[in-house]
Amino acid sequence: MTPLREMRYRVIARDGGCVAPLLDPEAGPCYDQWGAPVPATSWPELEIDHVRWRPGMQKHKYAADHVAMCPGHHRGTGPNAGAQWATGHRPQLRAYLEQVCTPRGRVDACERCQAEVVWHRGQWLDTDTWEPHAHAR
Ligand SMILES: [Zn+2]
Ligand SMILES: [Zn+2]
Repeated sequence: MTPLREMRYRVIARDGGCVAPLLDPEAGPCYDQWGAPVPATSWPELEIDHVRWRPGMQKHKYAADHVAMCPGHHRGTGPNAGAQWATGHRPQLRAYLEQVCTPRGRVDACERCQAEVVWHRGQWLDTDTWEPHAHAR
């Protein structure tokens, strides 16, 4: 898997589906790229929306900066007719990322590089980027 595909997979696995209906009861149904209705949890349809920017950083790098979203809420396909839910809800999306990527598990320092890491679903992640930590512990 390319790094981008791997990152996309991690974002979708974390969010479990389009985040729009999750964050906004008024978001309406999800649509695929042709405007046909799809379940919010339809993995093949999901795109990743880039929410957080890091200065000087490659654009699509960290799962912690992206959310999963259907084309309808992401790009305004079908009955949404160009109305992009994603564009109108940046503060909610940033707050969501803050919440899901805040360590609630065991936080520790890496023995090799002293980076702050968190134990999450069976692996050590960097608390800043929410990516798997480079040094296996
Ligand atoms: Zn959606
Ligand atoms: Zn380390």
